[in-house]
Amino acid sequence: ELFTDNATSMSTLQIDSLVKTFTAADSSNDIVAVDNLDITAEEGEFLVLLGPSGCGKSTTLRCIAGLETPTSGSIRLGSREITDLTPQDRDMAMVFQDFALYPHMTAAENMSFGLKMTTDLSKAEREERVQHAAEIMDIEEILDNKPGQVSGGQKQRIALGRAIVRDPDVFLMDEPLSNLDAKLRAQMRTEIQRLHRQIDVTTIYVTHDQTEAMTMSDRIVVMNDGVLQQIGTPDYVYKHPTNQFVAGFIGEPSMNFLQTTVSSVDGTYRLTTDTDTSFSYPLEEQVVERCDLSEGDSVTIGVRPESIRVVPTDSDQPAYTQTAVVDVVEPMGSDNFLYLLIGDTSWTARVDGDVDPDDGETISYAFDPADLHLFLPDGTTVKS
Ligand code: ATP
Repeated sequence: ELFTDNATSMSTLQIDSLVKTFTAADSSNDIVAVDNLDITAEEGEFLVLLGPSGCGKSTTLRCIAGLETPTSGSIRLGSREITDLTPQDRDMAMVFQDFALYPHMTAAENMSFGLKMTTDLSKAEREERVQHAAEIMDIEEILDNKPGQVSGGQKQRIALGRAIVRDPDVFLMDEPLSNLDAKLRAQMRTEIQRLHRQIDVTTIYVTHDQTEAMTMSDRIVVMNDGVLQQIGTPDYVYKHPTNQFVAGFIGEPSMNFLQTTVSSVDGTYRLTTDTDTSFSYPLEEQVVERCDLSEGDSVTIGVRPESIRVVPTDSDQPAYTQTAVVDVVEPMGSDNFLYLLIGDTSWTARVDGDVDPDDGETISYAFDPADLHLFLPDGTTVKS
């Protein structure tokens, strides 16, 4: 606990069947911003809500904060039902994208103002909290400065400091780094992780930036169209995406896809595609059985750029070797990105910087069956 006078109880945050609809501006169909969402954040967990613009992550956060009233569903903090409490009664502190600092107040006043309004702490107690938070955020030097006299990164530190002084059960952060430049963003990412390690408060963090999600979270909550797609550790979600949306959304450069058909050629099952008649990928019998595939089934294959390797022409060609035309080679320092044409489908391969074919060259490439993801026409995965 940060401050001894506020011994908080369990702060597991449990969201059950949360629905939030808005009336469309032209009063046609309702907009379902959050669609029957179930999420549990364990005490002290750093949970990142990730998804494309409009997927409902901010609305979810605002419902947790009490800034939106859910259409239905419940939100509990520990054993307390908080769905209908005012924001002030929720013991949560929110950090916004635009920092939301009062321009006419000093950093110290910005940090203590909320305490003055919502608690009966004495002036000395408030000052002690501000001092402590300033030490954590390393902003003691600028406590007397107004927001106009500090840098963007320092504004963000003040905003975080203001959240810390409230000693909340839960931190809510809505894209807190998106107004910072790339370098500062990377720095504040590690800063927030350090802060989290230090004070260990349950944190719900909204972003559309998968680097933030992958590096900061204990678990990622991937949303699309108001619907929960998957919850899991960054590593698990990356390796075992539950559907094609998650597979394509997580990972940079993103997973390559190709629409294929299960065919039986020369007594073995193969994946073939109309768009590239030379493509013919052998499927192991056990995969066919496990995934209950039959000849003629449509499946989309997914291969991560780093799973593709270029097979030198003078070496043994593994059974899975295919050919592709190199469209463009993009040097990325230690790696090269090869943009390949598989028929008219464009794929990216991430290979060592010394693998440097010419534009227009036909190359051989392979990927292991273990690295192959298969998706059914409805987008669900057929490989666990
Ligand atoms: P972004 O990253 O762009 O903020 P988001 O994932 O946070 O997106 P939300 O802001 O939660 O998404 O919005 C989800 C959906 O709800 C969108 O279709 C949005 O247009 C709609 N929406 C959000 N707030 C309102 C509102 N006050 N009135 C009407 N529609 C709204």
